[in-house]
Amino acid sequence: MAALISGAGAASMADIVATGETGAAALSVRGLRKSYGGQEVVAGVDFSVPRGTCFGLLGPNGAGKTTTLRCCLGLTAPDGGEIALGGYPVPAAADAARARVGVVPQFDNLDPDFTASENLLVYGRYFGLADAGIRARIPALLDFAGLAGKEGARLQTLSGGMKRRLTLARALVNDPDIVFLDEPTTGLDPQARHLIWERLKRLMAQGKTLILTTHFMDEAERLCDRLAVLDHGRLITEGAPRELIAAHIEPQVVEIFGDEAPAWAKARRALGERLEVAGDTAFFYCRDAAPLLAALPEAPGLRYAHRAANLEDVFLKLTGRELRD
Ligand code: ADP
Repeated sequence: MAALISGAGAASMADIVATGETGAAALSVRGLRKSYGGQEVVAGVDFSVPRGTCFGLLGPNGAGKTTTLRCCLGLTAPDGGEIALGGYPVPAAADAARARVGVVPQFDNLDPDFTASENLLVYGRYFGLADAGIRARIPALLDFAGLAGKEGARLQTLSGGMKRRLTLARALVNDPDIVFLDEPTTGLDPQARHLIWERLKRLMAQGKTLILTTHFMDEAERLCDRLAVLDHGRLITEGAPRELIAAHIEPQVVEIFGDEAPAWAKARRALGERLEVAGDTAFFYCRDAAPLLAALPEAPGLRYAHRAANLEDVFLKLTGRELRD
């Protein structure tokens, strides 16, 4: 365990031989199932995350993302399936797996009675790390999180963005190989989100594996090497963001806004391959948007945006536009 303090996250050769980890996926999930009250909320999920990559698990509220991640971490007992985390079977060897894992939970659960340093110290002790080793790492961890000099800061004096970054620093206290991040930037302002993205990219450059849930499609598109979309407990697609956009969506989108937009668009639906209407916005999905763009000047009072298709278009096509609570 002491090697976790000072090492660069690399397993010792003895560990590798003992666990047969070499070349194994950081996380592999096969046939995962979990029911609550007779309802299957994870209904046979399979995916695998290669080491050193960022994997995104996307899905509407209630899709089963948190349950899936909790099963992977050994925090929820699955009803069926196989999980290997960092080469260790979960839940059988969940404690050994978690020693090499960091977690940024959806809601910050820092201790409000402690300073920034004390939060890191107490968390490090859960991993059996010696105080001296944790203290030696604290300045670098806070610096990484953009909190240099905040060792003695009380939690009440930190902004929401600072607390989120402290939670990230805390997740790194054991120098994990794999970091789980459950909606790491929800509630943050754009500056704070960009800072977190930049830090997550640094972690990837260090060879760490990231497993991310997010409702921000731009975040997923920017960070994830591969991602899966989960809905009603099942994976409905998986691939690299660009691959998914190319596979599921026409390349160009024209969004037309205004009270008259739905009626105007419906009368001209032949100008695009696909038309979707949501409120006062019409979304034309086109292989070639030129004929539609040529027709738009004759529509006074309508505003429009012409853009490339993105991951949000894929997500909405696959999971629908109805609200999920
Ligand atoms: P997501 O993270 O995608 O929003 P969750 O995994 O949190 O989805 O939830 C999936 C479904 O499982 C939801 O319908 C939720 O109400 C239900 N659920 C999650 N945890 C529990 C629990 N401990 N007891 C009962 N139902 C649960």
